Amino acid sequence: MSNQPSPRHPMYDDATETVREQIRRFCAAEIEPHGEAWEEDGTFPRELYLKAGAAGILGLGFPEEYGGAGGEILYYCLAREELSRCGFAGVRVGLMAHGIGLPPILALGTEEMRQRVAPAVLSGEKIICLAISEPDAGSDVANIRTAARRDGDHYVVNGQKTFISSGMRADYYTVAVRTGGEGMGGLSLLLVEKGMEGFSQTELKKSGWWTSDTATLYFDDVRVPAENLIGEENHGFMGIMHNFNLERLGIVATVLGATKCCFEETARYTTQRKTFGKYLREH
Ligand SMILES: Cc1cc2nc3c(=O)[nH]c(=O)nc-3n(C[C@H](O)[C@H](O)[C@H](O)COP(=O)(O)OP(=O)(O)OC[C@H]3O[C@@H](n4cnc5c(N)ncnc54)[C@H](O)[C@@H]3O)c2cc1C
Repeated sequence: MSNQPSPRHPMYDDATETVREQIRRFCAAEIEPHGEAWEEDGTFPRELYLKAGAAGILGLGFPEEYGGAGGEILYYCLAREELSRCGFAGVRVGLMAHGIGLPPILALGTEEMRQRVAPAVLSGEKIICLAISEPDAGSDVANIRTAARRDGDHYVVNGQKTFISSGMRADYYTVAVRTGGEGMGGLSLLLVEKGMEGFSQTELKKSGWWTSDTATLYFDDVRVPAENLIGEENHGFMGIMHNFNLERLGIVATVLGATKCCFEETARYTTQRKTFGKYLREH
């Protein structure tokens, strides 16, 4: 292997490298010393959201007028890459659930809703998640059954969501509901809030990502104010598809960071472990 650093891709400049370095310092100080213990505990302190908010990490790639740090989508990806690189995937998933919960509100929500939700989420005071999947609708998103019936100034929501990341801790839930007929043309997005009557959550146990709380959500005649509709009624599917594109890009960055972490751990191990009288890397 050459000891020369790889040439920098033109996409990255001094500003992106400074941000990358800042996220690394945050991980080294705030996550790496505690990550193992948090995994065993199955959670991490809520205070970490405030610290990540104060460090500007939650706001990377989000507009400054809503409390974000700006910097477009490359910065959104940098945050995911570097948080993954420190090796505690559950922490990254939990901290960054706003990366899928918030964009539909910024893209489709009213100005009042954006101002009410985004600054609180990007500062780490409030937690938001995205609730699309159901026991019978995963890849097949257009098959969602959770129903929202209009009743005066409210929607009345009934149904169930599952596999929802940050579903226990969240204060805000961006929820896909059926307000119209079958298929993608009958879906809307609603902002549901923790504490609304008839809304409850139970935690799911997983084989990994223990620090990321993953939940099943239950909606039993939950009355949600009509002004919590995100965008237009029966136009939610476009918001969901827009989100999936962002999520896919974020997953690419996440996997890149995780791969670097695996490579670096392996390289380190091969300079420590000896077999047949030599370090592994010398074979
Ligand atoms: C840890 C974790 C966190 C999650 N977080 C969230 C979250 O925050 N919010 C949320 O809404 N959801 C979340 N999900 C749910 C996730 O989005 C779904 O698991 C995913 O959409 C797949 O749905 P499913 O599990 O029902 O699988 P299914 O849709 O039942 O698919 C099962 C398998 O069949 C394949 N398959 C499906 N359809 C086809 C087809 N037409 N042709 C060929 N193959 C096909 C799939 O690729 C998959 O391998 C999370 C899931 C996990 C495991």
